[in-house]
Amino acid sequence: MGIARTLLIVVAIFVALIIIKRLLTGRPQTPPAQAQAPKLVQCAHCGVHVNEQQALRSGDHYYCSADHQQRGKTN
Ligand SMILES: [Zn+2]
Repeated sequence: MGIARTLLIVVAIFVALIIIKRLLTGRPQTPPAQAQAPKLVQCAHCGVHVNEQQALRSGDHYYCSADHQQRGKTN
């Protein structure tokens, strides 16, 4: 029964290695949620900084609100 015994040992070692590996690298592999820093743009009217995705764009200028977009750029 040499082969069967050898196989059993190989399988046992294999399983042990998997368990050890799991223990060593057991931490959940979730990378830290790198929240993408929202790009801030400045309202051309009042100068407040707003998220680019929330800002209203008009040409090369961004505005914080539709009101300021209508009023347009200062100066
Ligand atoms: Zn504004």
